[in-house]
Amino acid sequence: MSRYYVNNNAQSNGDHEVHKEGCFYLQFVNSKKDLGYHLSCDGAVRKAKEIYSTADGCKTCSEDCHSR
Ligand SMILES: [Zn+2]
Repeated sequence: MSRYYVNNNAQSNGDHEVHKEGCFYLQFVNSKKDLGYHLSCDGAVRKAKEIYSTADGCKTCSEDCHSR
């Protein structure tokens, strides 16, 4: 199980990136919401979509869930 976070600020294409704890890019995220622990990015992105419909996995730490 890994802990996941969603960026509260959308990136330029409108997506709210979902990151796994320890991701290199998390240090650049000013404001994020804790999504709790998930077996994979699938559960984390599903949870993030309850908050932000445009949530999407980070290409670096959650490539399986990265669609855009
Ligand atoms: Zn990431």
